Amino acid sequence: HSEVTEFLGQALQTITAQAAIAIHHADLFRSVQQERQRLATLVKHSADGILILDSELRVENLNPALERMSGWPALTAYGRNYEELLDWRSADVLDLRKAIAAGWPENPADQPTLYCEGKIARRDGLPFYIGVTYAPLRHQNRGKLLGVIANIRDLSRKMLEQEQQNLFISTISHELKTPVALIKGYANTLLRTDASWDRATIVEGLQVIDEEADRLDALIKNMLNASRLQAQDGFVLQLSEVDLPQLVARLAARFRTQSETHRISLRFPPDFPTIRADEDRIREVFENLLSNALKYSPAGGEVEIGGERREEEVLLFVRDEGMGIAEREIDRIFERFYRVDDKLSRSTPGAGLGLYLVKSIVSAHQGRLHLRSAPGRGSVFYFTLPIALEE
Ligand code: ADP
Repeated sequence: HSEVTEFLGQALQTITAQAAIAIHHADLFRSVQQERQRLATLVKHSADGILILDSELRVENLNPALERMSGWPALTAYGRNYEELLDWRSADVLDLRKAIAAGWPENPADQPTLYCEGKIARRDGLPFYIGVTYAPLRHQNRGKLLGVIANIRDLSRKMLEQEQQNLFISTISHELKTPVALIKGYANTLLRTDASWDRATIVEGLQVIDEEADRLDALIKNMLNASRLQAQDGFVLQLSEVDLPQLVARLAARFRTQSETHRISLRFPPDFPTIRADEDRIREVFENLLSNALKYSPAGGEVEIGGERREEEVLLFVRDEGMGIAEREIDRIFERFYRVDDKLSRSTPGAGLGLYLVKSIVSAHQGRLHLRSAPGRGSVFYFTLPIALEE
């Protein structure tokens, strides 16, 4: 009897132990499964591109973000050499095959991952800027390379900004050089001791110097404002009571001396209210709009500036009869550094900052900006400003 009991007891123990093992396995299986799901979700929804390569550097998988970036559907890419997907078009980018041939990742403590950035051609041939981090996938014990996981970041935006920045610097230097050269030239001429200039020549020379100094001043102001704006993410306004008709009249008088072919006229009703605003900033708005109105109507014509009261705000406008702006450019011209790429704009001085600042200043005053224009038919820039803006 006792033998039977003993046998049963042992059998029971074995069964229990095996059941425990089975449960443990099931738990393990579940957690592995969960882990796998978590990874799959991570890969699928990652905003960065993820490329999984086997030990021969053939494509094993890629995520939707990389499908979008590279234009390669995962099914088509599968099994191809990684060079087909990362089709580098920049010089001096890291060659993963060479790096592996040279021993990477022999000593992962030195260099656990590799990084390189540059331009690739997408599947449709368009250039695309990326930054790639390669991480090795190694056998746990033997350290053998099982594959490589590449994390791919979209750098197009950064590159575009960089390009714009470079363009900006070259435009600015060019813009600064022209007035400085003119000022220097006229000053030199007037200073010559071997000539005696008549009064008219002297006045003419001094006028050029005066105007070019104004242009330099306006450009420097725009540059300072733009960089301040970038640093602070908005303007700090110094509010006071501003008499807009008077401010505009003074500006118009100054601009009238700069052009004989334009007629600058003002249209404000006699009961136009004073408003609370940052006077210097608002002057810059009108300065930029007025200087554009003159610059971009090379054949001359009328430039009209005016305003009217609309309940709690004033509506202002600057109208010209110039070249106008094509529909597709209308949104873009308010971007920083943006200039329309046509013959007149290219030969007209400017750094593409004016309208960007106009828009930023108007919106800092909680105003709205609106443009009506058609090529060859002139432009009207409208904007509103609240009458009683609070700090
Ligand atoms: P900039 O005049 O220095 O180029 P802006 O930011 O003031 O820069 O203007 C951006 C672009 O918008 C200009 O290059 C020009 O092509 C266009 N533009 C601005 N104002 C006018 C206007 N009144 N008429 C036609 N085009 C204009």
